[in-house]
Amino acid sequence: MRFDVLTLFPDLIRQAMGVGVVGRALETGKIALDCWNPRDYAHDNYRTVDGRPYGGGPGMVFMIEPLRRALFAAKERSGAAPCVLLSPQGRRFDQDRARQWAQLPGLLLICGRYEGVDQRFVDRYVDEEISIGDFVVSGGELPALTITDAVTRLLPGVLHTDASAIEDSFMDGVLDCPHYTRPELADEGAVPAVLLSGNHSMIAAWRRKQSLGATWLRRPDLLGKLQLNKVDQRLLIEFINEHRSKIGVQ
Ligand code: SAM
Repeated sequence: MRFDVLTLFPDLIRQAMGVGVVGRALETGKIALDCWNPRDYAHDNYRTVDGRPYGGGPGMVFMIEPLRRALFAAKERSGAAPCVLLSPQGRRFDQDRARQWAQLPGLLLICGRYEGVDQRFVDRYVDEEISIGDFVVSGGELPALTITDAVTRLLPGVLHTDASAIEDSFMDGVLDCPHYTRPELADEGAVPAVLLSGNHSMIAAWRRKQSLGATWLRRPDLLGKLQLNKVDQRLLIEFINEHRSKIGVQ
């Protein structure tokens, strides 16, 4: 899969994508990255990319011209990849969207800056606006990195075992279960005995119960969207009863 990123800070994108899981995916050719800096496509000697807002007011606005020229150059490489503008006003990014985009050959991400991008550019060239949450950061780079990471880890062969991604939170509508590693006994407590039992079906049932329970406790909105089968219903009731007796509620 290829990512084309329009950004005033290509080094930030390249450096952040050069490490960890995504860095390995780049090294092994599972993904490709090209950054396109609108400043390189500006007309004047000052490489201007922003202008004062018509109608007055604070801040500056990302100009159409350098963005359009950078976009057209990127499109020659990215082909039919959807053109996505990072924007706090966009549709909220989530795991379903990450999964959907992981099926695509490419994604073209546009990082806004300043007060935002001239609306005429958005209206003409942007297929979709995507937000990473109801807050405002200073530019689209961190949101773009969030998206490239979430999508990359779903590509076949990127994680050591593809099963790791399948068990992540949100993949089947519930949160992930808790994880433990050495030592078995620490000052902070012991590892749940079932995980040391070697009984794989008991371990799987315990993990499923914890996932369902964590979702019930922390994200009941997610649970409301699921049709739980009989086994899941039983596990969740067990969790709720255990939780209630732990906190002393009948
Ligand atoms: N004035 C804009 C507004 O209130 O909608 C915010 C502009 S913000 C300072 C500059 C750029 O950061 C935006 O154009 C966008 O690309 C990016 N950005 C900020 N918050 C974001 C979010 N929650 N999700 C995605 N992109 C975001």
